[in-house]
Amino acid sequence: MSSTSPRKHVAVIGGGILGTSTAAHLAKGGAQVTLVTAGSLADGASGRSIAWLNSSGARSADYHYLRMLAIDRYRTWSNRHPESRSYIRFDGAMKWAGPGESFRETYAFERAGGYDSAWVERADVARVAPDVNPDAVAEEGAIYNAGEGWVNMPDFVPVLAAEAEAHGARVIQDAGEVRVDVQAGTAVGVILGDGTRLAADEVVLATGGHVPAQLAALGVTVPDATPAAFVLFTDPVDLDVRTVLNTPRVAVRPLPDGRLVLDADWAEQTVVTEADGSFTVPQESVEGLLSEASKVLAGNPVLTAQRVGAGLKPIPGDGEPVVGPVPAISGLHMLFTHSGATLGLILGELLAEEIISGTPSPVLKSFRLDRFDAGAEDAVSAGTGAWAPVL
Ligand SMILES: Cc1cc2nc3c(=O)[nH]c(=O)nc-3n(C[C@H](O)[C@H](O)[C@H](O)COP(=O)(O)OP(=O)(O)OC[C@H]3O[C@@H](n4cnc5c(N)ncnc54)[C@H](O)[C@@H]3O)c2cc1C
Repeated sequence: MSSTSPRKHVAVIGGGILGTSTAAHLAKGGAQVTLVTAGSLADGASGRSIAWLNSSGARSADYHYLRMLAIDRYRTWSNRHPESRSYIRFDGAMKWAGPGESFRETYAFERAGGYDSAWVERADVARVAPDVNPDAVAEEGAIYNAGEGWVNMPDFVPVLAAEAEAHGARVIQDAGEVRVDVQAGTAVGVILGDGTRLAADEVVLATGGHVPAQLAALGVTVPDATPAAFVLFTDPVDLDVRTVLNTPRVAVRPLPDGRLVLDADWAEQTVVTEADGSFTVPQESVEGLLSEASKVLAGNPVLTAQRVGAGLKPIPGDGEPVVGPVPAISGLHMLFTHSGATLGLILGELLAEEIISGTPSPVLKSFRLDRFDAGAEDAVSAGTGAWAPVL
């Protein structure tokens, strides 16, 4: 932005990884930024995520490319901010198939694309990943992805918000249910929970699983496959767990303080959404996850539950990100995606650049809202038959 042009004021709604990343990149790029969020930073999906950094399994070429850029940005961040290395780690990940399944095709797909993927026989598991119980691994072996890792977003999101503030942004927490202020088809600012109106030149909607309902209230439809989900945080475990595990019955990743975070598809399906919108997790699911996690870890440590984190897991209808302008409402931009842990830095960077420069990013071309318009279905990529992770 030139020093003579007026600074664009951008209001960002949502204090998760996507909102804070966008706010930080906008502020660094010279925009005047106000970030507003309902409660505390990272109180949504970003605070209860496995947050495995990956481009594992079968993906469209465009989506794989975006994810590889995403991982690249984390590596650069980690290099520039050595203090982040306690909560951004690239210690590798392992996955294996369930009974009656095989990951050979997935391995072939990953290798064919040049992804850092190694096939590990059971006998070699202890050497490659000493934190894994080899007896739990599928008979055919496992895939080890040395370049994958994890981010602990409750640590990272406040850092991004502080970065935004260091570049002049205003961050407003506890703003209540914020709405986009739309007048005559144009987003003119935001309306805070208490009715206060804040004017802005452009608005970014980054409210995670709440994006579809907020857009629906403005007459805009985004296909939505958001389920209720939960993760289980364990108490600290007396084992040096470094590998992110994606196994048939449980996913496991370490936290900086020695706790683990666990989830699984079968457990997610047991979450009950109550009439008041709250979520109940059955005790059997908690115990089941602890038991499954103990089985896949070396030495089968006894695990105990510290707390459950339940809520929406934002997922667009076709599973791929929806990023950029909302065509029906001038000045409104959206960010709605799964895998937001992996994609957080790159999507915030590219969207901020688009808003500041007014030039659409070619990298985001496949991820626009209008791909869902009638007749545009062919643009949505098809799977390959190899395993595609739900994370
Ligand atoms: C169980 C689980 C496992 C996952 N595993 C992985 C993984 O392994 N790898 C990966 O890359 N991703 C993973 N994800 C996805 C990733 O965590 C999310 O995509 C990401 O955290 C979404 O970030 P967000 O900023 O869009 O949304 P959120 O983190 O939900 O943030 C949205 C924010 O907006 C606020 N808000 C909502 N409505 C309003 C409103 N009306 N007004 C003001 N503020 C509002 C919320 O309070 C919240 O702070 C997982 C998610 C879940 C739930």
